[in-house]
Amino acid sequence: MEKRSEAPIKSTKFRKLSDVDMTEVQLNSLEDLRSKDSVENGSFQGEGHSVPNSNSPVQHSKWFRSRLFIISVVFSALLMTAMCIGFVVHYGMAGDVGDMEEVSYWPVNLPKEQQEWYDQGIDELKKAVSREFNRRRAKNVILFVGDGMGPNTVTAARIYGFKEEGLLSWEHFPDMGLLKTYCADKQVPDSFSTATALFGGVKVNYETGGVDANVPLGNCTASLKEDHHVQTILKWAQVDGMRTGFVTTTRVTHATPAALYAHVPDRRWECETGMKDEDRDQGCMDIARQLIELPTGQKINVIMGGGRQMLVSNVTDSPADPLDTWASKSADGRDLIQDWRRKKEADGVSHAVIQNNRELWNLNGQDIDYLLGIFANGHLMYDHERDRGESGMPSLSNMTLKALEVLGNSDKGFLLVVEAGLIDQAHHRGTARRALNEVLELNTAVESTLSFLKSTDRLDETLVIVTADHSHSLTINGHAERGSSILGFAGKSKTEQTPYTTLTYGTSYQGFQVDPDTQKRRDPTGDNISDWEYTQQAAINTDENLHGGSDVTIHADGAMSYLFHGVHEQSYVAHAISYALRIGRFRDSSIAETLAELTPI
Ligand SMILES: [Zn+2]
Repeated sequence: MEKRSEAPIKSTKFRKLSDVDMTEVQLNSLEDLRSKDSVENGSFQGEGHSVPNSNSPVQHSKWFRSRLFIISVVFSALLMTAMCIGFVVHYGMAGDVGDMEEVSYWPVNLPKEQQEWYDQGIDELKKAVSREFNRRRAKNVILFVGDGMGPNTVTAARIYGFKEEGLLSWEHFPDMGLLKTYCADKQVPDSFSTATALFGGVKVNYETGGVDANVPLGNCTASLKEDHHVQTILKWAQVDGMRTGFVTTTRVTHATPAALYAHVPDRRWECETGMKDEDRDQGCMDIARQLIELPTGQKINVIMGGGRQMLVSNVTDSPADPLDTWASKSADGRDLIQDWRRKKEADGVSHAVIQNNRELWNLNGQDIDYLLGIFANGHLMYDHERDRGESGMPSLSNMTLKALEVLGNSDKGFLLVVEAGLIDQAHHRGTARRALNEVLELNTAVESTLSFLKSTDRLDETLVIVTADHSHSLTINGHAERGSSILGFAGKSKTEQTPYTTLTYGTSYQGFQVDPDTQKRRDPTGDNISDWEYTQQAAINTDENLHGGSDVTIHADGAMSYLFHGVHEQSYVAHAISYALRIGRFRDSSIAETLAELTPI
C-alpha cells in the first residue's frame, strides 16, 4: 500500500489516495469501468465510496419478503459497489482538479515503462497547480544573458551536461516566455541591437546601440543628438540610487555590455582605432571612453570582463592572454584603467582594480563600493582552456559572486547584468562543443547565484532572469539513439549513404565540403568530432557561422517573475524590469506626479 498522504504544497493539497487496494487495477480495465461509470455516475458525487442507502419506503408486503426482493437488493448493492469502485479509479478526478483545492490521484500498478512517466507527470503537475505569484516589488534584478543561446543550443547543452531527461538550473524557474529578436531593420539581429532592446526597451538598427532607429549604422552626426539616445535600466537604476554592475566573459566594451552605458552608431567603435578620424573630429566618442569618462559609466559599481586592449594602448600579449585579432586595439596612449582609479581616488570612494584570479580571490567585496576587473586583453579564454591558477582568468561564477558581494552591500537594491558571451564566440567559429560547455558555465553561475540569494534570504525580493539576445543556426539532426553523445553521429544520409553528425550549422566557414572523388558531401567519419576545435559541417559556406533568427526563451524566478509569460517583443524586458523595480517611468514619484496631473483640483 502507498502512503496515505503527502505534505500539502502551499494552498493546493496533493493527496495520493490509497485506501483501496489498487494492485490489480490496470489501465484497460479502468477504461471499461470508466465507460460503465459514465453511464450511471449521476448517482455519485464527491469522494464517497460507500454503498448508498436505499431510501425506498418500507412496505409490509409479501413481495418484499420474497426471494426476488432479496436478490434485487443484493444485485443493486453489488452494482452500486462496482459503480463506486469505477468512480474512484476513474482517471482525471475532474471535479477536484477543476477547483484546485485538492488534487487527488490513485496509485496504479503499471509497467515501469509507463510508471516513470506517470510519476513524472504528477511531479510536474504538483509544480504547475501550486504556482503562486510573487507580487512583491523587486528590490534587486539579476539579468543573465547567454549570448547566442538559442533554443537548440539550450537543448543540446542540456543533453551534453545532463542527458535528455535533465534540466538546466533556470529550466526549474516557474515562469517563462519567448522573445522575438528581430531588430528595427533586420529579421536576424546582432548583439548590439538586441542588447539595446533588452536593456533600453527600444528596437534599434543592426549593429547600433544606445541610439534609436533614427541613427543609421555608422552615422556619427545622428548619434550625437541626445533625442536619439536610448536610456537603459542601468541608468534608471542609478537615478534611483541603486547599485549597478555588469560581468561578462567578453570585452567590457563588447556589444552586449556596451549597450548598457554607451550611445554609438557602430559596435566597432570600441576604441579610437575602430572609428574614422572624421567621426572623432566631429566629437563622437569611442565605447571605452564612454565607459570610463561619462557619468553613467562612472556610476557603475562593478565592471568585470576582458578588453584591456581597448582600455590601455599598446598592451603586450602572451599565449595565456592573446590579443584579439578580430577586433581593434588602442594606440593613442590611453590608460583608462589608471584614469578610472584616479577618478575614484579623487571622488574619495572605496574601490579596487583587479586583473587576475589571485586579486579577485583576495578581495573582500563588502569592503568596497566600486570594482573594475579587467582579466584579459581580448575576451576571456574559453572556460575549458583558461588558466585556473592565481595569475589566470576567473570563471563566470567567480566574477558573478564577487559582483554580488559588492552590489549586495546596499539598502537600495541592485541591478546586475551577467553575460555569458563566449557561447556566441564559439558558435561563430563553428565549434559547437565549446559553445555547449560555455552554456554549462552559465548554468553554474546561475546555480551559484541562486545559492547566494537563498543563503542571504534575498530570493523573494530579487527578480532573476535568464535569457539570450539572439539565436544561432545550430541544428539538432535526427535520429541518434537516446543516450548518444550530442557530439556524435546521428545516422547516414539515405540518399547518399554519407554519415552526418547530430549537430550541424546552417552557415559556417568552410562548413560545407565536397569530396572531390564522389562530388558529394565529404564523409566526416574520420574526423575527431568530439574535439574542442572540431567544426561541425554546415549547409552554407561563408566567413563564419551567422546568427539565427529563432525566438529565444526567457525564464524568470523571484519577485514579479510572472511578468514573463508569453511571446514578447524583446524590448518588453526593459519595461518589465523597470516596472518590477519601479524605476524609470514607473518610479513612485513619477506615478504620483502623473496621478496629480490626472486628478482635477
Ligand atoms: Zn554574435
